Amino acid sequence: MTKDLAKFAADNGVKYFMISFTDLFGGQRAKLVPARAIADMQEDGAGFAGFATWLDLTPAHPDMLAVPDPDAVVILPWNREIAWVPADCVMEGEPVAQAPRNVLRRLIGEAAEEGMRVKTGIEAEFFLLTPEGDQISDPYDTAAKPCYDQQAFMRRLDVIQEISDHMLELGWNPYQNDHEDANGQWEMNWDYDDALATADKHSFFKFMVKTVAEKHGYRATFMPKPVEGLTGNGCHAHISVWDLEGTSNVFAMEPNDSSQTAELGLSEKGRHFLGGIMKHASALPAITNPTVNSYKRINAPRTTSGATWAPNTVTWTGNNRTHMVRVPGPGRFELRLPDGAVNPYLLQAVIIAAGLSGVRTKADPGKRYDIDMYAEGGKVRGAPKLPLNMLDALRGFDRDKGLKSAMGEEFSASYIKMKMQEWDSFVGYFSQWEKDNTLDI
Ligand code: ADP
Ligand code: MG
Ligand code: MG
Ligand code: MG
Ligand code: MG
Repeated sequence: MTKDLAKFAADNGVKYFMISFTDLFGGQRAKLVPARAIADMQEDGAGFAGFATWLDLTPAHPDMLAVPDPDAVVILPWNREIAWVPADCVMEGEPVAQAPRNVLRRLIGEAAEEGMRVKTGIEAEFFLLTPEGDQISDPYDTAAKPCYDQQAFMRRLDVIQEISDHMLELGWNPYQNDHEDANGQWEMNWDYDDALATADKHSFFKFMVKTVAEKHGYRATFMPKPVEGLTGNGCHAHISVWDLEGTSNVFAMEPNDSSQTAELGLSEKGRHFLGGIMKHASALPAITNPTVNSYKRINAPRTTSGATWAPNTVTWTGNNRTHMVRVPGPGRFELRLPDGAVNPYLLQAVIIAAGLSGVRTKADPGKRYDIDMYAEGGKVRGAPKLPLNMLDALRGFDRDKGLKSAMGEEFSASYIKMKMQEWDSFVGYFSQWEKDNTLDI
């Protein structure tokens, strides 16, 4: 039975609901609704002027209604009078086709029709900066190899422990937190879940990290490369597929398979799903690396720590972090391509879209490379390079008719249109670099 939000409020002392949706650029938009009004809004949705967000709607469109998903409601651990609830966008009784959570729900439905239930875990790295956002918040965090730095960790324990306490309270099963590879960078891990639940948690995690950081006088950022020369913010996704009951991992190896993936513990279905990811790899970055800044993380020169930890070529391997895909152990693989700017819903959607196409066409992931790609990448012949900038990425997506159609024609057209406008805005921006390099020509 669907959860009654009015009753939920009464039972839990919730005074307000924050009805939230995510637009095409990953921005979270919300209205704060007193509990007295939630019964009607649970049915009809909260009204928004769609044009005021990045959803490719015009000022002439009718009201867009954000209908809360009661199964996903979360009481804010830092203010228990407020409950956050992700919503699905509806217009005139129909789902808004390009709204990211709708895109994901549709693809989850398609996977279910094939008996597949996708479960994923993500690693949303972030930096803690000063409020102005122009430098890391801890002036003493300067080591050349700052990863796992215990003392730097202690200087931000107040923030990290508070977030971890919240995740414990929410029942996410958090299991580790660390200072990451860049000065000022952190990673916090919790258990994988169904794709929609992971997307909602990913959204909520960003909201929570930013809120807690602000409370302590810092600014958290998931920007792909916030500090020049330092390792960027990745958002790796670990992927497995289960039966519809969610009890049996169908990526786990079947006996008598002698393929390169089976050697690493991935079943035939896992191999085909991975094959779909590899086949559509040149189109994925438009979604997984969606900003101008994203291309300062992938294909980047070596960072001060010694490695970028980000891929540059479309290759896969075993337990080796220099490739686009790593198979860290049996029954799952890790896509290392996405960065912190990725839209939580579109990330899951594009993984399912590409993977499902691979399963349907029995795609082969190609040769496995067990080499250090940073040192020996030159030896790889014929593997595509990842796009060098956002425009190439958008063109790569636009060329991939299969993936565009799997993501939804309306979504794909709107996404490319909005992102092309963003690219035009970027190239229209007059930079100091141009002056420095062109003034005296
Ligand atoms: P690493 O840094 O080694 O890549 P992390 O421990 O930081 O790995 O993150 C691993 C993520 O993978 C976690 O979210 C974890 O829950 C998830 N994960 C583990 N097993 C599976 C699985 N079978 N399917 C999907 N995700 C998984
Ligand atoms: Mg108004
Ligand atoms: Mg990790
Ligand atoms: Mg990491
Ligand atoms: Mg990882």
